[in-house]
Amino acid sequence: MEMSHRGKEFIAIADQAEADLRELLGIAADYKVLFLQGGAVAENAIIPMNLLRGKTSADYANTGEWSKKSIKEAKKYCTVNVAASSEDRNFTYVPAQSTWKLSKDAAYVHVCTNETIGGVEYHWTPDTGGVPLVADMSSHILSRPVDVSRYGLIYGGAQKNVGPAGLTLVIVRDSLLGNALPFTPSAFDFKQQADADSMYNTPPTYAIYIAGLVFQWLKRQGGLQAIEQRNIAKAKLLYDYLDGSSFFRSPVHPADRSRMNVPFKLRDEALDEAFLKAAKAAGMVQLKGHRAVGGMRASIYNAMPIAGVQRLVEVMRDFEAVHG
Ligand SMILES: *Cc1c(COP(=O)(O)O)cnc(C)c1O
Repeated sequence: MEMSHRGKEFIAIADQAEADLRELLGIAADYKVLFLQGGAVAENAIIPMNLLRGKTSADYANTGEWSKKSIKEAKKYCTVNVAASSEDRNFTYVPAQSTWKLSKDAAYVHVCTNETIGGVEYHWTPDTGGVPLVADMSSHILSRPVDVSRYGLIYGGAQKNVGPAGLTLVIVRDSLLGNALPFTPSAFDFKQQADADSMYNTPPTYAIYIAGLVFQWLKRQGGLQAIEQRNIAKAKLLYDYLDGSSFFRSPVHPADRSRMNVPFKLRDEALDEAFLKAAKAAGMVQLKGHRAVGGMRASIYNAMPIAGVQRLVEVMRDFEAVHG
């Protein structure tokens, strides 16, 4: 933790982490990988500052709480066109591509490909007809393979699936760099950071070190194809139980359900507290749903073994047997 970020020991750690991330995601040479600070929420401002490139508007898909935050922040820097929204059904689905109203002159199209709070995940990649696609992948990056070439920029905070809080990943196509708005803080200018190998200022060195270990762990698991198969099996176990139960249910449209974040509800929400208490007694914590959605939410990131999901289903089944 005391190593200088400019020392050869740390540079070797950062280079290895970048090489492993590039290998895992199949990132081509015409993309920069940046290890930054500020989190995904700071990126909500940093992205328009960097990517407007002389344009004055951007398209955003509004699929939940994190999209709403991105939109609110972007409005400080440009005109936001909400090209698609699932607000009409309380953010329980991803709007079909055929309903999107993209604008020709948008600087980019922004999506949140896994809505952590609502539990809604894109299982397809939007076609933006040449306009750069920008994705907040904070809560499902590295849970499955991604065709990076379909995106102009991918970003995410590390703390869900990658490593400790404090590290922000930005993967950005070279050709989009170099046009930051004049008032962009230098530490948040992608071009300046890219030219300095993410060391314009001190990067979050310890978080990069741990993320590097996670990348190596993922490679040992067989890479993203292998981890995806595990994540599919974990999610299926939980959703199959929810769909078969008349006591618990999933509020999300089946085709758009997240493999990482599984919100679920009791038919009678008066039992929520009793369920959370029973779960806690069985050693299961952090199951309370976000206040925007209510009910419960199981976050089953890469690090959650299938045994953890099996145990949760047992606890739910036992609770249903007593109270159902
Ligand atoms: C957790 C999360 C964030 C939060 O970003 P921070 O700035 O790191 O707090 C943003 N977007 C999504 C999709 C998230 O899941």
